[in-house]
Amino acid sequence: MSWFKRVEKGIVTPTEQKKETPDGLWYKCPECKTVATMAEHKRLLYTCAKCNHHDRIDSAEYFEILFDGGEFTELDAALTSGDPLRFVDTKAYPQRLAATQKATGLTDAVRSAHGQLHGQDLVVACMDFKFIGGSMGSVVGEKIARAIDYARQHRIPFLMISKSGGARMMEAGYSLMQMAKTSARLAMLSEAGIPYISMLTDPTTGGVTASFAMLGDFNIAEPGALIGFAGPRVIKETIGKDLPKDFQSAEFVLEHGFLDFIVDRKQLKQQLADLLTMLQPAAIAAPETAPARRHQ
Ligand SMILES: [Zn+2]
Repeated sequence: MSWFKRVEKGIVTPTEQKKETPDGLWYKCPECKTVATMAEHKRLLYTCAKCNHHDRIDSAEYFEILFDGGEFTELDAALTSGDPLRFVDTKAYPQRLAATQKATGLTDAVRSAHGQLHGQDLVVACMDFKFIGGSMGSVVGEKIARAIDYARQHRIPFLMISKSGGARMMEAGYSLMQMAKTSARLAMLSEAGIPYISMLTDPTTGGVTASFAMLGDFNIAEPGALIGFAGPRVIKETIGKDLPKDFQSAEFVLEHGFLDFIVDRKQLKQQLADLLTMLQPAAIAAPETAPARRHQ
């Protein structure tokens, strides 16, 4: 006879008596494995208390963090994509869109809004990575272009928060056209003397890096964000050399002169407010619209 004998077979606790750990109560940092409560994690704006790892967050969280009282007016909320190429991969594109819309509650991979940040008007367009990898199709490009137009017409600074895998393959050429369209609108914004701040978050790659994300009057990033054009494997195979450590991290990109500064999410709102205050006179009093000063 063995030294251990199971008296009863299998697990005998009835399902209704099992104690479940409630979902979403704890957060474990993927970098340093520190565990915190979700409430604490949220209080720190989804950054790790120990290693300062910045968790990926969505437009809903950024709008909540940035806009005063979490209040804003969403722009072009109803815009959705067609299927110009009748594209099919493992699913037909319209089916993929419908399933993603249902799962995420979003209409596409970017949301734009007008609100106030410490009392200053600001138009923000923010990408959502959970919507087909934050990929840029015609709706993403169009919503960004319209948000830029709105900012230009109302003479309000524009903030773009990028988080994207690049162009959306299901719209192929139509996706690539968005690079030119958004860049052209930004040039018009610049001519009107309206400030544009581009914030790159983890990850910002492909056609997004190659267009609007790198065209800010200020290009800023979150710590540790992956920022690049092509992926490291493709580059390594192309140049036939090993890549340096931390290649394509925000810190590496900053050191090589492509970013103005890296901002901790906990200081983001205040730093943006300071930057907007500094830039504001240009937006309010562009030369052609400035009222004539009276001298007495
Ligand atoms: Zn951590």
